[in-house]
Amino acid sequence: RSKQRGRGTYSFFSPEMGAQAAARVELESGLRGALERDEFVLHYQPKVSLETGRVVGVEALLRWRRPGRGLIPPDRFVPVLESTRLILTVGAWVLRTACADLVSWDRLGLPPLVMAVNLSPRQLAQPFLARMVDDTVREHGLDPGRLELELTESLLLEERTGTTDVLDAFARMGVRVAIDDFGTGHSSLSRLKRLDVDTLKIDRSFVAELPHDREDLAIASAIVAMGRSLQMRVVAEGVETPAQARCLARLGCHEAQGWLVGRPMPAAELVAWLQDRDRPRRDGWDGDTEPMT
Ligand code: C2E
Ligand code: MG
Ligand code: MG
Ligand code: MG
Repeated sequence: RSKQRGRGTYSFFSPEMGAQAAARVELESGLRGALERDEFVLHYQPKVSLETGRVVGVEALLRWRRPGRGLIPPDRFVPVLESTRLILTVGAWVLRTACADLVSWDRLGLPPLVMAVNLSPRQLAQPFLARMVDDTVREHGLDPGRLELELTESLLLEERTGTTDVLDAFARMGVRVAIDDFGTGHSSLSRLKRLDVDTLKIDRSFVAELPHDREDLAIASAIVAMGRSLQMRVVAEGVETPAQARCLARLGCHEAQGWLVGRPMPAAELVAWLQDRDRPRRDGWDGDTEPMT
């Protein structure tokens, strides 16, 4: 059986390889060197307080500007980065870039925001992650409380060696920790209680059908109540309509993120958006509902 070597460094396509596998190899070879070629870019999506309507933070979301192919969304390539060691260097770049942008916004005199950065499970298994985060925050002269690391719920599932230590290290440093897409994984509530988690992000699948869907309303309400009683902040993802925002505010959810507030935008666009918003409010959600406290 013959393996036909392509001219690329590692792509070899054999007839028995499916088109899907071939596409993946092609994707992976495109990703190698993408960092050096400066093809990654961060977009930032704002989060607002449902109590005051003010912008309180942003989430950094990675995109790949692939030559000739446009802007590739993370769902298409982050899994590939994650299955290789590339996520470690790209992840470190994301953190550095997000911190540098945050510092530059401070210098422009914008109100101090909290920067949320997504971490993959593979990064969390890295022994020097806490040290890397600490170094990055220090190098940029940032208050560690301005950084929030978003982790997936699967980390709560089992007692993985290392995870607890890393989260403890973040807590000691004063870096915040959020559980992303909360409600979609299988989390152990006893573990959630023991870990130092600051924020729960309600997955957007539970937000989409609010306020009409009874089940989703029950789930969103339960997550908010649990988060609040465990002294955590609760953020709703994927908020697209004023009715959803009003419903979440009534439930006592602290913050909202979604198209209603703003789409993920390049840094320069976010700055203009923030400056424009600083003027008297006239956005879609009028904040007329008293939040439950
Ligand atoms: P996530 O962390 O849950 O990010 C929220 C996703 O929801 C983003 O998709 C965002 O664009 C999208 N979204 C925000 N508001 C709305 C809305 O109102 N409606 C709808 N339908 N969608 C909304 P995006 O940017 O495509 O990112 C997808 C996922 O990729 C992220 O989900 C995160 O898990 C991952 N990701 C993004 N950047 C990074 C990164 O730097 N590192 C790692 N490890 N993962 C990343
Ligand atoms: Mg996230
Ligand atoms: Mg999320
Ligand atoms: Mg989500």
